[in-house]
Amino acid sequence: MERVTVRGLNVRETETGDYDKIITLVTAEYGKMTVTAKGVKSLKNKNMPACQPFAYSNYVLKKSKKFWYVEEAETIEIFYGLREDLDKFSLAAYICDVLCDVSIENAPDPEMLRLTLNSLYATANRGREELSKIKAAFEIRAAATIGFLPVLSECDMCGCDVKADVYLDVMNGRLLCPDCKPRAEKEEAMIEGTARLYFIITLPVLMAMRYIISCPQEKLLGFSLSEDDMYILSKVCEAYLINHLEHTFTTLEFYKSILI
Ligand SMILES: [Zn+2]
Repeated sequence: MERVTVRGLNVRETETGDYDKIITLVTAEYGKMTVTAKGVKSLKNKNMPACQPFAYSNYVLKKSKKFWYVEEAETIEIFYGLREDLDKFSLAAYICDVLCDVSIENAPDPEMLRLTLNSLYATANRGREELSKIKAAFEIRAAATIGFLPVLSECDMCGCDVKADVYLDVMNGRLLCPDCKPRAEKEEAMIEGTARLYFIITLPVLMAMRYIISCPQEKLLGFSLSEDDMYILSKVCEAYLINHLEHTFTTLEFYKSILI
């Protein structure tokens, strides 16, 4: 019987039967894996803690007739703070949904897994007032990590250094200065079926975005913005990720609904 040891994050689960769950793990070794965890709905089961939502654990998995089963599991981090607060729990659910969505079987992406773990850790341990910041930083860095890196160095059409408010062309991942934006719009209007989405962003927001996509991952939250600029950053980062993934998430809509 095939057996593997993996380190993975439980990003999704489906209850099956009275005691069992099917869980989706995103692992550093094999990417996304769907595994059956028998008996883990019983509080007495030794593998129960490691099979809870958001648990990051070492798992020993065995394969039988094409299906993986949890044989042993030991938690590394359960992000306890996520379970105390509905806003935090909901943001964590969205973050895990994004990871699950972009993960593929047998194609590990350690960078994206690490970003998710760092973001869950910050969500669990920082104050609620920082949730918007954590969410925005996760979204734009995730987009950059999975291949949608925006080019934020200069206006994409004239090459000028942007020194004031500037447009982010979301779908093309580029900047446009106010002089070039009308020309870009005209050109894109000629191509039928092209989706267009522009956000005007302030210089502090642009600086924050540049920082987030290029800083060492452990310093992801090392920037500060005024309340107004943080609002713009939140809108832009969410739109950027969602439009490049081409769908929203029910967990994102739920998270936003409880903030109102
Ligand atoms: Zn320009």
